[in-house]
Amino acid sequence: MNNNEDLMSKLVALCKRRGIIFQSSELYGGINGFWDYGPKGAPLKRAVEQLWWKYMVQERDNVEGLDSTVICHPEVWRASGHLAQFSDLMTDCTECKKRFRVDQMDDPNVCPACGAHAMTPPREFNLMMKTFVGPVFDEEHAAYLRAETCQPIFVDFNTIRVASRQKLPFGIAQTGKAFRNEINPRNFTFRSREFMQMEMEFFCHESESMDWFDYWHQERWNFYTKILRIPEDKLRIHWHDKLAHYAKKALDIEFLFPFGWGEVEGVHHRGTWDMSRHAEYSKQDQACKYFDQERNETYFPTVVETSCGLDRICLMLLCNAYDEDTADTKKEGMDEDVRVVLHFDPKVAPVQVAVLPLSKKLEAPATELYKKLNNLFRAEYDVTGSIGKRYRRQDEIGTPFCVTYDFDSENDKAVTVRLRDAMTQERIPIDQLRQWLADKIWE
Ligand code: ATP
Repeated sequence: MNNNEDLMSKLVALCKRRGIIFQSSELYGGINGFWDYGPKGAPLKRAVEQLWWKYMVQERDNVEGLDSTVICHPEVWRASGHLAQFSDLMTDCTECKKRFRVDQMDDPNVCPACGAHAMTPPREFNLMMKTFVGPVFDEEHAAYLRAETCQPIFVDFNTIRVASRQKLPFGIAQTGKAFRNEINPRNFTFRSREFMQMEMEFFCHESESMDWFDYWHQERWNFYTKILRIPEDKLRIHWHDKLAHYAKKALDIEFLFPFGWGEVEGVHHRGTWDMSRHAEYSKQDQACKYFDQERNETYFPTVVETSCGLDRICLMLLCNAYDEDTADTKKEGMDEDVRVVLHFDPKVAPVQVAVLPLSKKLEAPATELYKKLNNLFRAEYDVTGSIGKRYRRQDEIGTPFCVTYDFDSENDKAVTVRLRDAMTQERIPIDQLRQWLADKIWE
């Protein structure tokens, strides 16, 4: 096993041990490509989603929010091209029963796993997940779980524009579940079959679209480097040389995962493809076009899209945060000299502050302090085990600040704050603690 595989398996084990992320339906042996976020994963995911929403919607006057359904009218997916094109050619090995994508094989007649010349003829495999709406399970009632969150945005464009009195250029954003029947789910949550997307579609005049593309490229880069504070040397831009037939420009923002560079976000110039296709399929030309008073022109809006996967961002944050350091642990009462620590940014840490009374005798004032903190921060209270063990537990879930309430606290009205990364301690007056933490967490 090389170091990177080792790192991934340690991370997967940590995520399960600490209730961050684990397989869905584990009781029944799991289900491939589906993952659950536990008590320490759900707050992480929610924190990232909220940061994205604040950055993309709340702080901008020219982006509106949406929360659409997962199931849409099936024509939406015919118009978007997903029913016709969102498919891969697959072949099965009749010997070892493994399935492969034909475009990823050196020789489609030979099994890459067992070498047998026993491949079935290539078959189309659509990535859309199918269901039925209503009591009858027949083709007339077939519907699909959305494969991307952006299509309902195009469909709702006119309603949202009118309701919000927006003029072009403006954007519509939403976060939510997307489903793809991925042939080969892999690399932990990186390629799942059910995942969350966070997408923003920006509608503008064709002549301004390249400037908006550059603008959103920069804004999204800033989100990763300045808001999530991912080091720039672990990120790169990958420009697409092969563009979708309707696209004018496209790039991916990639992160260096332990298994290699992987896409976390795409910024795409989609031209007028989406709006013109929906006009054609819905026959609602007016709802898909825009009358521009200043230009005195009616046109299909050109779309610049920013599209990222929340699960991939969480995985990126976990990979970026994971560390084993040889800490001087003796002073914290531990014998071992390696500690596992997640160096999460305090903004995204599942627990931002832990309150740890030094002794059970101090539970009453420590609980009172905890209650003052947990309405402002993601806080946790822990009284079990030695203080050293409790620090380790908090290190493993990436808690940046541990507040110890000790016997002196009663007299000096102060607590000790232990910093996760430096492993140093500071004495802070209790009446200044909330402000002190707020400055450090939201800085
Ligand atoms: P890939 O090439 O990795 O399959 P894609 O180019 O198909 O991704 P898009 O359709 O552009 O991806 O989707 C936008 C974002 O949604 C991706 O950048 C990624 O973060 C996320 N995403 C796409 N597919 C998955 C998946 N199967 N599991 C988790 N996240 C995904």
